[in-house]
This record gives sequence, C-alpha cells and structure tokens, in this order.
Amino acid sequence: MKKTITVFKGDGIGPEITDCVLEILEAAGAELDYEIFNVGEAEWKRNGALIPDEAYASFERNRVLLKSPITTPIGHGFRSLNVTLRNKYDLYANIRPAKSNAAVKTPFSNVDMVIFRENTEDLYVGVEKMIDEDTVHATKIITRKASTRIIRDAFEYAKNHGRKKVTCVHKANILKMSDGLFLSIFEEIAKEYPEIEHDDKIIDNTCMQMVMNPNQFDIIVTPNLYGDLLSDLASGLIGGLGLLPSSNLGTDYAMFEAVHGSAPDIAGKHIANPTALLWSACMMLEYLGQKDCAAKIRGAVDEVLEDGTCLTPDLHGMATTEEYRDAIIKKIK
Ligand code: ATP
Repeated sequence: MKKTITVFKGDGIGPEITDCVLEILEAAGAELDYEIFNVGEAEWKRNGALIPDEAYASFERNRVLLKSPITTPIGHGFRSLNVTLRNKYDLYANIRPAKSNAAVKTPFSNVDMVIFRENTEDLYVGVEKMIDEDTVHATKIITRKASTRIIRDAFEYAKNHGRKKVTCVHKANILKMSDGLFLSIFEEIAKEYPEIEHDDKIIDNTCMQMVMNPNQFDIIVTPNLYGDLLSDLASGLIGGLGLLPSSNLGTDYAMFEAVHGSAPDIAGKHIANPTALLWSACMMLEYLGQKDCAAKIRGAVDEVLEDGTCLTPDLHGMATTEEYRDAIIKKIK
C-alpha cells in the first residue's frame, strides 16, 4: 500500500529541486502518494499565510514531511519557519550525514561522519531581551530532557549502524553550567555503551580538527548552534551544501530536508543541485521501510557522479538541474 506524505515546496530553489526530486521518486517506483503545498515567503505574499492551515493539517495526518528550503520574511516579526516546525512537532533530533563521494573531488577523502544536532533549544529558543538601548541579552537553554534524548539517539545510532565512536562537541570550558550539563549527561550515557568509544572536544578545536583530520570523526553529538555551524563546515569537506541531506526526527513526526537554504542567488537559473534534497528523500524512504527504492536512487546518483559528464555547476559541471535529473532517471531505468 502506498504511503501518503506531505511535501512543502518552499522558496528560492525550493520548487525547482522539489519537482526534480518528485520526478526521480516516481521513476524509481517509490510507493508514495503526495499532498503538495506551497509554503514560505512567496506563499505569504500570494495568500497571506506562510504555512497554510491545510499544509499543517496534512503533516499532522501523514506525519512524514519532505520539505524544501523556506525563506522566512525578514523585518515582519516572524520567527524562523524552520525553527517553528521543529518546535511545533518536537523534531528534536537533526541527523546530518556527511560522507565523501569518491567521484566528487575535494581536498579531503573518506569523510564519513554523522552529526546529531539537538534541534529544539540552545540559543535557538529565540529569547532575546533589550536590557537598555546598548545591551541585549539572548537566552541559551540546555535541559536534561532534551540533552538526554539526543545523546541517547546518537549512541543508539552508533550501536545499530556499526559505528565505532561518539564525540560530544561543546564549549563547557566557558559555558560551565549549560554546556557543562550537556557534557555531564554525555558522560553518564556513554557508560551504558561500553562497546562504543567516546570522547569530547571543544567547538573551536573541533573546527580546526575537522579541517586538519576529518577522518577522526564518526558520530558527533552537539547542542543546536554548534550543530548548525559544524554541518555547514562538514558540507564543505564533501563538496558543498548541494550534497548534505538531513532528517529531523521526533517521537511522532519526521521531516526530511536538505541542509542548505533557499539559495535565492541561483533561484530560477536551472543550476541548483537537487542531490541534498534527493538524499533526504532517500533517508525518508529508508525511514518508511522502502530501502530497495532508496538504494536504487542512491546507486543511480553514484553512477552519474562517477561518470562526471553531467554535473551541476557547484560540482564544477555545466549541466542544468533538469539535465542532471534526467541523467539520474536514465540510470534508474
Ligand atoms: P539559510 O540561512 O537559509 O541556511 P544560507 O544563507 O546558509 O541559507 P544557502 O541558501 O544555504 O544560504 O546558500 C549558501 C550558498 O550555497 C549560496 O551561494 C547558494 O547558491 C549555494 N547553494 C545552496 N544550496 C545549493 C544547491 N542545492 N545547489 C547549488 N548551490 C547551492
């Protein structure tokens, strides 16, 4: 039986890469039906709602969302739509795998790390207070509950995927209470997984180490802000933002999206790389138990990357988004 999922098309390159991914899913025979919605800034300008009620209702019904990048209008007092979705549906685990592809040449090889970013708190709670006209305070929240579940998920993932090591990234030398709590929970939970190696690193050192020797990292677990920064850095190691997928998992809902934003600078130019969203869709298929279909798509992408003659400009090719899509569909067929 087909599974119905919700799709948000979003802004900038969102609609073009979503169309492309849906066509590839279709070609690969994914057992999916779609409820598709326009959301974000463009939709707000057209119809006055950033995310229409029917779009929320659809996600609440289907509980699985494939989401393309959304722009939150600046200067109108809106909270980030991404943060809103993550909080509204308690999508606490943001999982971002960064893996080198032999066909995409970068100065780094054999990078294979998975970043577990806590998704609901830290400075992202967005609580800022004007103390006086020259002073603003921002609130960083770290709780035992949120830290425990993301850290446990990271260790469980390591156990279930044959991973060897979990690294906690923090700044507990300065933020002794907040990051200190995160780190102490990490150390407690690590004791329950004696078969998995664990260590911790300070965020600044991690940035340097990631560039000097990225192969030392396996699973990383970290609070929200550091996770955001480290995953963009990790994307640079493997060939750029066009190649970094993610899942956002909670207890009841799951949302799959590319790590990159809506890239307004290249929207409508037919040069966006849809791979990050496509690989996010593969993570979704795996989550839904459609592993063969995901493997078929991953295999076709690998072949197109390996072949190297039909790549988008971010990967130093000359192909349009549509030509790249067609090359993948051809390999699938
Ligand atoms: P956000 O704040 O929403 O995360 P951002 O400011 O980090 O967004 P992005 O939209 O992620 O910016 O884009 C950063 C750069 O990477 C831009 O130059 C953009 O063109 C490029 N980029 C992002 N995604 C892609 C993609 N799928 N294909 C090609 N280039 C991309």
